[in-house]
Amino acid sequence: MFKKFGGTSVGSVERIQAVAKRVNHTVLAGHQVAVVVSAMGKTTDTLVKLANEISENPSCREMDMLLSTGEQVSISLLSMALHSLGQDAISLTGAQVGIVTEADHSRARILNIRTERLQRHLNDGKVVVVAGFQGVSSSTDFEITTLGRGGSDTSAVALAAALGAAKCEIYTDVPGILTTDPRLVPAAQLMPHITCDEMLELASLGAKVLHPRAVEIARNYGVPLVVRSSWTDEPGTQVLAPTRQPKSLEGLELVHPVDAIEFDLDQAKVALLRIPDRPGVAAQLFGEIANQSLNVDLIIQSIHDGNTNDIAFTVMRANLAKAEAVAEAIAPVLRGNPTDTNEAEILVDQRVAKVSIVGAGMIGRPGVAARMFSTLAAAGVNIQMISTSEVKVSCTVERDECDLAINALCEAFQVTCSPLDKTATPEQPIPETSPEVRGAALDIQQAQVAIRQVPDQPGMAAQIFALLAEAGVSVDMIIQSQRCRLVNGQTTRDIAFTVAQDEAAQARRLVENAAAKFACGDVFVNDAIAKISVVGLGMINTPGVAARMFAALAEHQINIHMIATSEIKISCLVAEADGVNALKAVHEAFHLDGAEKVVVPA
Ligand code: ADP
Ligand code: ASP
Ligand code: MG
Repeated sequence: MFKKFGGTSVGSVERIQAVAKRVNHTVLAGHQVAVVVSAMGKTTDTLVKLANEISENPSCREMDMLLSTGEQVSISLLSMALHSLGQDAISLTGAQVGIVTEADHSRARILNIRTERLQRHLNDGKVVVVAGFQGVSSSTDFEITTLGRGGSDTSAVALAAALGAAKCEIYTDVPGILTTDPRLVPAAQLMPHITCDEMLELASLGAKVLHPRAVEIARNYGVPLVVRSSWTDEPGTQVLAPTRQPKSLEGLELVHPVDAIEFDLDQAKVALLRIPDRPGVAAQLFGEIANQSLNVDLIIQSIHDGNTNDIAFTVMRANLAKAEAVAEAIAPVLRGNPTDTNEAEILVDQRVAKVSIVGAGMIGRPGVAARMFSTLAAAGVNIQMISTSEVKVSCTVERDECDLAINALCEAFQVTCSPLDKTATPEQPIPETSPEVRGAALDIQQAQVAIRQVPDQPGMAAQIFALLAEAGVSVDMIIQSQRCRLVNGQTTRDIAFTVAQDEAAQARRLVENAAAKFACGDVFVNDAIAKISVVGLGMINTPGVAARMFAALAEHQINIHMIATSEIKISCLVAEADGVNALKAVHEAFHLDGAEKVVVPA
């Protein structure tokens, strides 16, 4: 069995001794145990700070050399603590345990794991204590690499997958996976179980309790994963993975970045142009749509232009007439002039197809979305709307061009394609009472970048995102607006996306160059934003979820800057100062608040 203990769980001598006792207990119950540990407490942060005091721009190689030392302290101390209990144990670094990675410092992916030594020690009755977060490059130089912050979860799940372990337990400072971060919302409640798909979205949207790549491996290899407190014996949260698949460990984290292409020919698009940019507008619009029991699929709200926004959404084609009627009726109301229907600018398009690429392998790989856009451009397909989540990129295109788009994408990503099955059930059944929203997350580490007036022709998104990808800038939420504004006789659209704050300056430079080269309009960057998201498989077939989220924000006078959705999540950008209030409001609106407060150990 595999157990992983995070920083706070090994933060002091007492904590290390408590972990040793717990491990010893499991051994005495007759199990072979391997343990993965993080650096003690905030050691990694302290090391980063030290490096920044010496150098503004430290080399990634030397950073890995430095940061990997944190884990080496805790493995040796834990082994000693086990020895003191009379338990045979040996500590091993990432290299010694055979975690082979690519040479990409500070964010290396695991290529394979040579388990012979680990297995030998386990067979000899030893507890093996492994340094998380680190590996060794496959090149002849045996470079020390790290997997990225929070990466020891990934080490643990990858080792568990490689050994075919019966279970991988992640011990941390909270009782398990909660409906949101209890440090921000003390009324957060424990979820006894969550599916891998939901967890993957939550983790990549800011819930740092699990590293998204750990969830990805658990899902791909079917590793039974549990998250629980290292302070208690409570069972914690089970992360439900599909049944274990006998899969090659070669290229462990470098399997196809895209698992599938999905399409849906049955969509129609409604766009409301130039509606006021103030709190409550999205809530009113989608509230009305929900009153008509219309299920909305993609929703995109683009950057505001002066005092107005464009909001576009898709519905099933059969529902277009109803959705259009709602839009016609509400647009003048939103503009504050119910009698004036002239101004209403509503576009409908009933010949829309949605094409998506899907796969956890695209997390942290900036080139994947760019490749989708360039593939579509090369096939001559114009992209209308774009909406992304960390594990999915969806584009709407003209229905007649859908076949072309699918064939090109299947070839580019070497996968087969299937129509989106709206009735598909997850491989692990979730109880029928499962609420449509299971959890909420806040991410304040992002910045918003927008480019105005991008010429509306195939290949523009491809070229812009390829530039960012080449520079290694990971783009998160991408949306492309609906508006086709005529600039010098050319129709244009706005494109907005988010990037990590520390990459915002670089993104701005790249995008400004691109804007000049392709004759686009202004570029603006805002890093005082927060992304607030809700996740749940149940929302696929439940109308009104988006409306409820927007209404909760409106009630608190919180303005929404940007909206992007995928089937199982809705994300809104709000002002950074509104972030925590927005999270609390949304958490409450979906009845996620529990009666008991979660107390996080200091
Ligand atoms: P470890 O050191 O054990 O790896 P982390 O600090 O990486 O622990 O992750 C645990 C923290 O994740 C918790 O203390 C909590 O503040 C935060 N967190 C954010 N979102 C959630 C969530 N949905 N459920 C539980 N914890 C969360
Ligand atoms: N110690 C590393 C970090 O702080 C890895 C981890 O804790 O998972 O990011
Ligand atoms: Mg962690």
